[in-house]
Amino acid sequence: MVTQNEKIEFDVLFIGGGPANLAGAIKLMQLARQNNLELEVALIEKGSQIGSHALSGAIMNPIALKELLPDYQKKGYPLETIVKGDGFQFLTNQKNIPIPVIPGEMHNKGYHIISLAKFTRWLGSLAEEMGVNILPGFAGTKVLYGLDGKTVIGVQTGPKGLDKKGKHKSNYEAGFDLMAKITVFGEGARGNLVKDMGARPGIFKKKKMPQIFETGIKEVIQLPEDNFFKTAPYNDIHTLGYPLGLNTPGGGFIYEMADNKASIGLIIGLSYEKPLLDFYDEFIKFKKHPLIAGIIKDGKVLEQGARAVSTGGLFTIPKLFSNGALFAGGSAAMHNAPGLKGIHLSMKSGMLAAQTILRAFQKKDFSEKTLCSYDENFKKSWAFKEIQKGRNFSQALAKKGILKPVYLGAQYFTNGRGIRDSMPLIKDAATLKPLKKEISIKKKNFDKNYFDDILYVNKLTGIYLSKTKHREDQACHLIIKDQAICIDKCYKTYQCPCTKFCPGNVYEIEVNENSRQPRLILNPANCLHCKTCDIKDPYNNILWTCPEGGEGPDYTIL
Ligand code: SF4
Repeated sequence: MVTQNEKIEFDVLFIGGGPANLAGAIKLMQLARQNNLELEVALIEKGSQIGSHALSGAIMNPIALKELLPDYQKKGYPLETIVKGDGFQFLTNQKNIPIPVIPGEMHNKGYHIISLAKFTRWLGSLAEEMGVNILPGFAGTKVLYGLDGKTVIGVQTGPKGLDKKGKHKSNYEAGFDLMAKITVFGEGARGNLVKDMGARPGIFKKKKMPQIFETGIKEVIQLPEDNFFKTAPYNDIHTLGYPLGLNTPGGGFIYEMADNKASIGLIIGLSYEKPLLDFYDEFIKFKKHPLIAGIIKDGKVLEQGARAVSTGGLFTIPKLFSNGALFAGGSAAMHNAPGLKGIHLSMKSGMLAAQTILRAFQKKDFSEKTLCSYDENFKKSWAFKEIQKGRNFSQALAKKGILKPVYLGAQYFTNGRGIRDSMPLIKDAATLKPLKKEISIKKKNFDKNYFDDILYVNKLTGIYLSKTKHREDQACHLIIKDQAICIDKCYKTYQCPCTKFCPGNVYEIEVNENSRQPRLILNPANCLHCKTCDIKDPYNNILWTCPEGGEGPDYTIL
């Protein structure tokens, strides 16, 4: 049994197997070849394989893909289909009203509909062919710093085979100290390592706006051959209105996929105010709307999942470099909020990071002095211009009632400046409104026809369809910092919103029949790694930590 962390040295280490890091690793290998530079490059991914934790709508602007791999079509690129037209609808609870004017950023005609799980898996195989050491099943649990306490020198991966009390089981395997001259953090939204670094002085600049997020629940549905998309003039539908209404930010989408499949989801801005908003119920209500129910009629859910996305935009982008470290993709809030897209921006940020890494190796300097060129190049890129145009969009979207269209319209006519530049953002954890009176928790008693286990699956079947798994006999990876806060404060003020927003049914309140005393129960094995609890808990009392590498969902077509 190896109990000591083994040290492995690389030149460059990418943390996370999303589009930013995979594009970055491919670009770096291309540049290294062109410049006769030999680099030892590794990429770790906490999922059991590349793509296991990758989930997005997903419509992709192919601009970054064409820059990275001009011959992508000859390399087995897993395109689902091309957007043939946009259908934007406002939903009331029974009707739909087509929205005739679609803002420029939301025009998707000609863009690619993809499965992010398949796309990242494909990029991963290309990166591996080019010599990148792809290491799935490795969860980065700790950033390693040099003697100055500020220079990043690598990442420690978590051990495997600890029991609930943290004791070694017979199959215990120690983690690794993966050392690198440059570490690129592309962990996606609310990465646990980047969050830890944010709490450390000297890594990020102060006075940035807080990162804000949206959480989406998504399914892929098998449709009959003779389905809506065969004759419709559009295959990309976005909705506003029902079921969320106008005061809760978010909306729905449904896209055509290859082989008579559809991708369907509901996205909810985590700046919502209603503590009793149940994400899964809202998603099912969206699916049951007459317009959507008609499109997915006679379908069967194949896969389900959920993920938070960082949507704050320009004013929430952190400092992109530190001594020995770069930040890319969702970890760095690369997202076009009005366009509802970020994959191309994530890829571009990874590719720009690769150019900086090449320069650093040529100069043999891995300090901020050289790595700052990443920020300079980002500011000169099309990616920055695109993000800049949507810089006040999330703030405008969070406005209530009539103010919302006024603020959104002002953005549209002023190239993103809006009524006030810059508009402030509030932390998602601070937006819930306390309940006026305590409502007793009742088990939901849905009509037995509400779920049919085929097209309308309940939460537990949805978790099964995400293929999420965690070893049961390990310590819980969700740390409740103070149990008393859950019952004495959160239950009384908000009725424990974690039991409503968590799409994995991880948090449940059980009320003792005799004493009427509530108790919070956790089912960590169900966790989909969406990170919503780490973001939205109003008391900042839940800490999401990384379980053993290789655990969590195993998405294949989301
Ligand atoms: Fe998401 Fe947290 Fe629930 Fe896991 S426990 S599924 S991270 S909300």
